[in-house]
Amino acid sequence: MQRYTARRGKCSMHGDNVASGNNSNMEVKTMTKINRLRIEALESCNWRGHDMKRFSITQTHQGKVGESECKKCKMLVHILDKPYPNEIEIGGEAVALNCFD
Ligand SMILES: [Zn+2]
Repeated sequence: MQRYTARRGKCSMHGDNVASGNNSNMEVKTMTKINRLRIEALESCNWRGHDMKRFSITQTHQGKVGESECKKCKMLVHILDKPYPNEIEIGGEAVALNCFD
């Protein structure tokens, strides 16, 4: 696998935000996973009547974690990129309980 930095000198375009190419496979995979979780979590929350804020995604030692809050009732939803065996990928009050509003 070629590293992107090895080709940087020859390429006039900045490829950092380009989705194609093999060099950033790991990053793309991680993003896809967390994005999929975010969409699933939002669907569950919307179904319960919540109006969720934007997810804040944080990189931790355990992979990416995301958190969002309902604008109306302030319930939280959490997403975990790499949950431990005793954890779940999507959790929080907002996916378990209906919105108060
Ligand atoms: Zn709510």
